[in-house]
Amino acid sequence: MSKFLSEKYASLTPYTPGEQPKERKYVKLNTNESPFPPSPLVIKRASEASKVLQLYSDPDSSVLTGTLARFYDVKRSEVLVTNGSDEALNFAFMAYCDQKTPAVFADITYGFYKVFALVNNVPYRTIPLNENFGINICDYFGAKGTIFIANPNAPTGIALSVEEIEQILIKNPDNVVVIDEAYVDFGARSVVPLIKKYDNLLVTQTFSKSRSMAGARLGYAIGCEKLISDLNSIKYSVNPYNVNRMTSEAGIGALEDKDYFENNCAQIIENREWTKAQLENLGFELTNSLTNFLFARSDAIDGGTLYEKLKQRGVLVRHFSQNRISDYVRITIGSVEEMNILVENIKEILEESL
Ligand code: PMP
Repeated sequence: MSKFLSEKYASLTPYTPGEQPKERKYVKLNTNESPFPPSPLVIKRASEASKVLQLYSDPDSSVLTGTLARFYDVKRSEVLVTNGSDEALNFAFMAYCDQKTPAVFADITYGFYKVFALVNNVPYRTIPLNENFGINICDYFGAKGTIFIANPNAPTGIALSVEEIEQILIKNPDNVVVIDEAYVDFGARSVVPLIKKYDNLLVTQTFSKSRSMAGARLGYAIGCEKLISDLNSIKYSVNPYNVNRMTSEAGIGALEDKDYFENNCAQIIENREWTKAQLENLGFELTNSLTNFLFARSDAIDGGTLYEKLKQRGVLVRHFSQNRISDYVRITIGSVEEMNILVENIKEILEESL
C-alpha cells in the first residue's frame, strides 16, 4: 500500500478470483467457466465489430438491449447491459445500500457481495444458511436492508423456487431484492417475469457461464423502469461505454444461436448428473446443485487435501477455507473427457489414502 491510498480503502480485502494458472496446463474446473467455445455466431460478430474499434461503442448498446428485451419479453427500458454481471451487482450496491440501508446476504454465498459492501463503504448483515445449506425464506422477511440472493446459490448450487422468492419480495416491499441468476440456465427457474409485478425486484444474469463468454465480460440487469433508470444514472456517472463493441456484438450472436445455447446447457446438466452419481458411488456427499458446478465432501478426505492432491495431478478445483464449508470442494462441470479425468484421479487419490 502506498502512503497516498485514501483511508477509505486502507482496510479493503479485495475479492480473490479463482486461480488462472499459467505455469502448466490444468484440467481447469475451478472458476465455473464453460468447457465449450463461444458459438460461431459470437466469433463472427465480434470479429466484424473489431474492424471499427476506432469508434466508441454505443453507450446504450441499443441493439443488444433490444435483443435481450425480446428474449425475455420485457421492455428495453427494463434492461441494462453491463461489463459482466459483477458490474450490475456493484451498481446495485452503489444505488441501493447506504448507512441507513445495509446489504443483507447469506453467510455462505458469492464472496464478492462482502467486497462490494466494503468498497462502497456500506454496512452489511449476513444471515446463516440452514444446516443443509438452504435458505430459510422467513429469515429474509422484513429484512430492513437491500437483499442479495444468488439463485442458485454459490458455492452450494442450491436454488429457491420462484414462489419462495415471491414471498421474500412481498415481505420486503420497501427494499430492493436483488436476485443474482448467474447460474440459472442450468436447471433453476428465473424470476424475470416477476419484474412486471414487483417494483422492488432486480434480476442480474451473465453471458459468462451458459453462453461461454466469461472472457468477453457481459452481464445485465432486468427490473422495472425506475430501477433500471437508477442504475443508468450510476453507469453514466462512472463508465458510459461500459460494454465494448466486440462484446456487445458477441452478445447478440450468442442470443441468436439458441440451439447452441440449449445444447450446451443440456450437455452440462447431463455431465453434472453423471459426475454426481460417480462421486456418490465413491462415498461423497453432494448438495442438489442446479448449476454448472458440484459441491462435494467426503469423510475419507478433507476438502483442502483433495484440492491439493488434485492440483498435483493437474486437475484444478476450488476450495474455500471458510468456516462450515472447508470440508468441501467446488467442482466446475467440464466436458465428458474432463469429468472422466476428474473421477479417475479422485478414485486413485482415495485408494492412495486408504
Ligand atoms: N454471481 C455469481 C454467483 C458468480 O459466481 C459470478 C461469477 N464469479 C458472478 C455473479 C459474476 O460473473 P460475471 O461478472 O462474469 O458475469
